[in-house]
Amino acid sequence: MTIAQEFRLSGIALPKDAGSMLDEICEHFIEHAEVQRSEDLALLRSELGTAIIRVQERTLLIELTCLSEEALQTSRTIIAEHLFYFAGEDPLELTWSDPAKLALLPNIHEVTVVSAEDVTPRMRRVRFTCADVTPFIGGDMHVRLLVPPRGRAPVWPGLREDGRVAWPEGDDELLVRVYTIRGVDVERGELWIDFLQHPAPGAKTPGADFARDTQPGEKVALLGPGGGRLPAAQSILLAGDESALPAIARIAEEAPPGTRLQAIIEVLDEAEEQPLSSPCSLEVRWLHRKSYPVGVRGILAEEAKQAIASMDRQSFVWFAGERDDVRSVRAFLKGRGQDRKNMYVAWYWERDPAQDIRPERRGRA
Ligand SMILES: Cc1cc2nc3c(=O)[nH]c(=O)nc-3n(C[C@H](O)[C@H](O)[C@H](O)COP(=O)(O)OP(=O)(O)OC[C@H]3O[C@@H](n4cnc5c(N)ncnc54)[C@H](O)[C@@H]3O)c2cc1C
Repeated sequence: MTIAQEFRLSGIALPKDAGSMLDEICEHFIEHAEVQRSEDLALLRSELGTAIIRVQERTLLIELTCLSEEALQTSRTIIAEHLFYFAGEDPLELTWSDPAKLALLPNIHEVTVVSAEDVTPRMRRVRFTCADVTPFIGGDMHVRLLVPPRGRAPVWPGLREDGRVAWPEGDDELLVRVYTIRGVDVERGELWIDFLQHPAPGAKTPGADFARDTQPGEKVALLGPGGGRLPAAQSILLAGDESALPAIARIAEEAPPGTRLQAIIEVLDEAEEQPLSSPCSLEVRWLHRKSYPVGVRGILAEEAKQAIASMDRQSFVWFAGERDDVRSVRAFLKGRGQDRKNMYVAWYWERDPAQDIRPERRGRA
């Protein structure tokens, strides 16, 4: 029997309040990892490896164990980014037994735009060439798209000593948005992303605009892939809006034959429907937002809950979309006692409350 090599790293964080920081870590990571919590200790287990985080006096002691150096670096960055995010404006010190020293992130891929075309009136597909597409096959589906300022040579991020990403600043600042790798063509060395064109009156939409304006030859980078592994189950409900449609379409294409798939997808209108192919039995129901009564929200979440109620608890529930819909579905699944192993529920975008205010009410206290 061969024993896999383990890569380890330990860190010490000094936040303002170690106990509440541990609470925040557990509350957040329960969506992404298996979390076991006792009084002063948390064990987080994911496909990357394990993190043991212990409160000791005013500090958090962190022990990371992974099966590869790359997974270890990625875990460190995830933990570091989250600790600083949770600390907000409060001071936080974070040091590691072996400080991070990479000039370039280990999972960054520079890619070149090959083409951009409309799949439907509001969904634009951008194809990229990539020197090595193998990390994007199977497994994780999501990436951070990094777009440098137009007309400037790109400066890609490295790592700070504390493990956080050292983002280029000032004139080199990057646009960063999360997307799904919709498909990969190994022979051509290409991959593609479907970008929803979502006009937001009064707000900029830089991610969507990149897809609208890009030209062949433009160089951008993809950070990842990470998260959103294809679920393994005999029966899967896939539900979401247009932001989730690329992921739903890819899961349907790549699910193993024999899987029973049911999809509920909310789009603006009939013109936004896309043919979905799958080697599995696939039943798709499209919801058209244009047909909803004015001001009514939450229909996708209600439809998903109805579908979930008629499924057994061994079926996998996959739901992604706007934050409020996601919260509503998550609460329903929790109330139903659905095992976390049998669900993926994630918000892909957040409605700007300012967009909800009618013009005549803007500016009122
Ligand atoms: C894991 C993951 C995977 C994702 N995959 C995809 C994908 O493959 N394709 C894709 O198009 N999106 C995807 N998204 C969603 C995408 O990251 C967001 O929609 C993002 O906000 C778009 O950036 P933007 O610069 O266009 O708009 P932003 O600058 O982020 O937002 C501008 C305004 O647009 C509104 N807005 C943002 N997204 C939407 C939306 N979907 N519908 C309506 N209004 C919106 C915001 O509320 C805000 O008012 C994914 C998100 C996650 C977390």
